[in-house]
Amino acid sequence: MHGLMMDNPLLISSIVEHADINFPDREIVSVTNDGSLHRYTYKDCFIRVRKLANALGKLGLKEGDRIATMAWNDNRHLEAYYAIGGAGYVCHTINPRLFPEQIIYMINHAEDRWLMIDPLFVPLIEKISPEIPNVEGYILMGDDNDIAENCKLKNLVSYESLINEESDNFEWPNLDEKAAVGLCYTSGTTGDPKGVLYNHRSTILHAMALIAPDAMNLSNKDCVLPVVPLFHVNSWGSPYGAMMVGAKIVYPGSKMADGETLYSLTEQEGVTLALGVPTVWLALLQYADQNDKKLNSLQRTIIGGAAVPESMIRDFHSKHDVFVQQAWGMTEMSPLGTVISLKYGMENISHGDLVELQVKQGRGMFGVEMRIVNDEQEILPWDGEAFGALQVKGPWVCSDYYKLDGAAGSHTDDGWFDTGDVAKIDPLGYMQITDRTKDVIKSGGEWISSIEIENTAMGHPGVAEAAVIGIESEKWTERPLLIAVKAEGRDVSKEDILKFFVGKIAKWWIPDDVVFTEEIPHTATGKIKKTALRDQFSSYKASE
Ligand code: ADP
Repeated sequence: MHGLMMDNPLLISSIVEHADINFPDREIVSVTNDGSLHRYTYKDCFIRVRKLANALGKLGLKEGDRIATMAWNDNRHLEAYYAIGGAGYVCHTINPRLFPEQIIYMINHAEDRWLMIDPLFVPLIEKISPEIPNVEGYILMGDDNDIAENCKLKNLVSYESLINEESDNFEWPNLDEKAAVGLCYTSGTTGDPKGVLYNHRSTILHAMALIAPDAMNLSNKDCVLPVVPLFHVNSWGSPYGAMMVGAKIVYPGSKMADGETLYSLTEQEGVTLALGVPTVWLALLQYADQNDKKLNSLQRTIIGGAAVPESMIRDFHSKHDVFVQQAWGMTEMSPLGTVISLKYGMENISHGDLVELQVKQGRGMFGVEMRIVNDEQEILPWDGEAFGALQVKGPWVCSDYYKLDGAAGSHTDDGWFDTGDVAKIDPLGYMQITDRTKDVIKSGGEWISSIEIENTAMGHPGVAEAAVIGIESEKWTERPLLIAVKAEGRDVSKEDILKFFVGKIAKWWIPDDVVFTEEIPHTATGKIKKTALRDQFSSYKASE
């Protein structure tokens, strides 16, 4: 017997409808390409969203067609999200930092019909345009003045002229909630990028987790600074969660890793909650340190995408009174999987115990099931000791990759998604990533966590960045090698660092050697590129 409740599909257009009525005067502030601030309200934003939806309808697109965006975090990109998805098309966000070959691959694989591009990316797109023949035209995210006279792109129209004459009335289509709404490719360190296709239902349910007090707790009182790009995993779902509750939104435009901009935006606009990967916060903390500044309004940062070093958690707390909430997830999970939030009985937790908790990746929220398994697929206990392959399940976890039909081998026979991460889970349910499956170091038949060594090394004041890889060893199969970038103005030695590890990690985990380097290579999403390091140090020999 079915229940007798209304069958309202979960659609992102319902966020527009709700926020337009409830928070019309809430502000959205963006840094523009000329460095000035653009400021308007939710009401202004939705007028333009509806105009854009009308304009897109005249391009001859049909439901489910892909429109790609390549842009920074600003108001036009936000408008595109709602207009494209709400009107029934699929918003394919492209990471401009990827290699041109990867971008070409993704546009062709997705069969994007139109491209919406920030003026800053025109030179890049001009170069690749002969290789993306399916693209029918380009919308330049600016006005006519932003179109260079000698621009080579065919069928190019400016965003402003496209929407200018359009009506601001738009009837949102009553879509199937399982209809696709967004597409984001994982960069994939090996093989071609793989497309993750979000639907309306997964997007809404995921946004509910963002606003749930027991998870991300994004609320109406927040002023949120999403430094995590709109071109990567929907900026962690922040466009949807923030507008669901009517939070003020502050976008840094192209100034995503600029400590000074992030600091002044935070202070001027009264940012309370900031979202981003560890690298951007390193830039902000360094700027604050060097200029003797304190973050006054900021209360919390949600940090994920890579492990958060303990030193960062301590710095935010002691210098700025900011609570770091570590989170873990991935493109395939929309991306939210776990987040640090305190459980009952933890009200009087000591500072030391709290930090010990914060270096973990967090606990699963309702909507994400987790398990860890060994090589034989046997389920391991949540005892904080056993570690194994982390698998997840839930309504905002991908069931397959776009057009791959199971070929990626990413899902188990009993329907779990294999994350490629290795983790342990403590009895209270807090999960801790110990490695990527492919980065784990196998030494003498045991596993060594490269992440834990990196985090410990980052706690040394002389180390700005650290990466650990396994190098071949005849006796042990592999041994850890630490590659480190020295902190500015510090002259630290290999011996200092090796001594620093004593008592902090298991003795046999201590790297055999430390190599200092000027720079550690990163992927397009800011993660350490271990494949490149492994190539670079492939002939390196461990001392036995
Ligand atoms: P890509 O590298 O393709 O951009 P994602 O952004 O989806 O992929 O990255 C997901 C991966 O990032 C996770 O599987 C995990 O290895 C790593 N990751 C994400 N958050 C954390 C975290 N808080 N701590 C450690 N690793 C993390």
